[in-house]
Amino acid sequence: MIHALLSAWDWLLSLTGANFEGGRVYGFWSGFAGSNIAMLGGIWLYLRHSNCIKQRCWRVGRHKTAAGHPVCKHHNPELRGRSGLSGDEIDAAHEAAKARK
Ligand SMILES: [Zn+2]
Repeated sequence: MIHALLSAWDWLLSLTGANFEGGRVYGFWSGFAGSNIAMLGGIWLYLRHSNCIKQRCWRVGRHKTAAGHPVCKHHNPELRGRSGLSGDEIDAAHEAAKARK
């Protein structure tokens, strides 16, 4: 009876790949941790690519300067220290963009 249980346990371990020598550590790194590290690396690359161009600024660069640099709201020369554009400024920018077309 005990022998049958042990062999069933061995069979289960062999299915999960955990009974290889050092298998638990290897399984951990190749499975769970490996994919998480790859995912974190992807997130890091995305943030690095999309964040504000100002040195050591960690914010997402959602605004473009006139020169085309992606910057955050705090480092955009036209939005600095403000919560956004006024209605008149939005209207003026809209009309100016239409005139350029
Ligand atoms: Zn910034």
